[in-house]
Amino acid sequence: MDVAFIGLGQMGSGMADNLVATGHKVTVWNRDWTKAEPFAERGAIVAADLAVAARTGTVMTMLADDAALEAVSFGDGGLLAAGPGLLHVSCSTVSVDLTARLAAAHAAAGQRFVSAQVLGRPDVAAAGKLSVIAAGAEDDLDIVQPLFDSIGATTHRVGERPMMAAAAKLAFNAGIPAIMQMMTEQFRIVAAHGIAADQMAALLLEVNYGNRLIGSYGPMIAEKRFEPAGFPMRLGRKDVGLALAAAADAELPLTELIAERMDVIIAAGGVERDWSAIGQSK
Ligand code: NAP
Repeated sequence: MDVAFIGLGQMGSGMADNLVATGHKVTVWNRDWTKAEPFAERGAIVAADLAVAARTGTVMTMLADDAALEAVSFGDGGLLAAGPGLLHVSCSTVSVDLTARLAAAHAAAGQRFVSAQVLGRPDVAAAGKLSVIAAGAEDDLDIVQPLFDSIGATTHRVGERPMMAAAAKLAFNAGIPAIMQMMTEQFRIVAAHGIAADQMAALLLEVNYGNRLIGSYGPMIAEKRFEPAGFPMRLGRKDVGLALAAAADAELPLTELIAERMDVIIAAGGVERDWSAIGQSK
């Protein structure tokens, strides 16, 4: 299909390349023109300005942050000035507030707006294997599904309001530093006893640590199903205490916070509840 791609940074350049490679007629635009220019040789049309890009009718944006997306959408000659009928597919990771404002502004301009958040780093974008989390009117999502198929391996539709995809993406990203911090602390615990961090990293991968935990605890937490306990808070708290002791003098701020949370839950009567009730104080 005819599509314009705005924002040729680390993520956007790979996404635009995959749109071209899968046969779409792609027009590109980037604030720094030197990043757009090479796309002429890679099979895309380079637009002189946003207004030209918007004439394609469907525009995907992949910009740094709220300020960048606001500039491209609300700024002079921006997408909202392009006239009725435009379909804006917003892929940048931005606030729920801006996503809501854009949904309203595009509707007021007789335009359509969907949010298509992506999971995966620049190498995954270059390989066309992103996971797309999309939200918006079902008809609009159907129209742009071929674009999602070009940039991603999977698409997950999470709802009819674009804000829902923004919220899902932010929830994903909120968890990533927590997991990175957790791994750092795990490496510190084993390092105190002579096990190298990369050996522990390989072990986590080998036992499929992340997926196993999400598979067994995800549904329990989502359904608040903490009884009967497969592993009670009482025993979980014992192990967290033992891990803190095993770390010798290493810094384990996340593990300490978790121990405190468990104590709150135990004090509130949750001692025999499954330890997946970590986030529930009542
Ligand atoms: P990036 O390499 O820094 O690219 C940012 C893009 O935004 C560039 O095209 C830049 O244009 C443009 N931009 C910035 N300010 C602008 C403005 N005021 N007006 C117009 N254009 C502007 O970032 P990225 O890694 O591709 O990330 C893009 C988005 O995807 C972000 O929201 C990020 O959070 C999200 N994301 C990133 C990853 C990742 O692993 N990197 C993964 C998933 C999602 P110039 O070239 O002119 O500066």
